[in-house]
Amino acid sequence: KLVSKKWKVKPTVIDLGDGVVIEEGGMAIMAGPCSIEGEEQIEKTIQHLLDNNVKIMRGGVYKPRSSPYSFRGLGIDGLKVWYDAARKAGIKIITEVMQVSQIEEMHDYIDIFQVGARNTQNFNLLDELGKVHKPVLIKRGISGTIDELLSSAEYVFSAGNENLMLCERGIRTYEKASRNTMDINAITILKEKSHLPVIADPSHGIGIRDHVEPVALACIMAGADGVIYETHEKPEEAYSDGQQTLNFRESEKLINKMRKVFELR
Ligand code: PEP
Ligand code: MN
Repeated sequence: KLVSKKWKVKPTVIDLGDGVVIEEGGMAIMAGPCSIEGEEQIEKTIQHLLDNNVKIMRGGVYKPRSSPYSFRGLGIDGLKVWYDAARKAGIKIITEVMQVSQIEEMHDYIDIFQVGARNTQNFNLLDELGKVHKPVLIKRGISGTIDELLSSAEYVFSAGNENLMLCERGIRTYEKASRNTMDINAITILKEKSHLPVIADPSHGIGIRDHVEPVALACIMAGADGVIYETHEKPEEAYSDGQQTLNFRESEKLINKMRKVFELR
């Protein structure tokens, strides 16, 4: 495989411009709400990120919801509002693209395309993302194996887009005490197998606010090159995934601890 270390030994570096780099030996932080909800929420989140020297904001404008009656995102108009605010603040944007037709409309307003766990094996989407000149983060499928994640990455890489990251976000197991089972094994295994940066998503990985911090810290010790997690000024009022979302005080505490733990690695 082209994403394998057997093919390329040198770690892949993702350069987002303006000095924002995701690479081995660094610890990229991507934080923000599950869903983008409006201008006020965007501004408050950006201020929180600026206060803590975080350069990349996450958030969904196209949301893959289990129920069609749940909030499904503000779409391209929401992305444009977010883009204007983020650009002014010097913050980079990562957001999920759900289908091929969205790639072009989103392209100029994003810095990283996120492929969600429900689309890890949407091979048409992966083919098309292989043709764009923007970084892509691929999440592991809900019940996907490590090799299936690497094969999905291979679609994008072999189609010509080498600006690629892998993301462990927990898998479905028999365990019901947590939303998903964060596979920390996958982080160290992916680091061994692939030259691509490996990002951990502890929010979806465990799905319970009070347990996001220890899981995030464990992922850093396991070798993650970055962490993506959910934060919101008032998680209880979030349009989606509030139960696993940190408030800004918890988020700040996590950022400080992650930076300390990273120094120990
Ligand atoms: C998300 O990042 O909000 C999301 C929907 O993640 P996943 O695709 O991992 O479920
Ligand atoms: Mn979410």
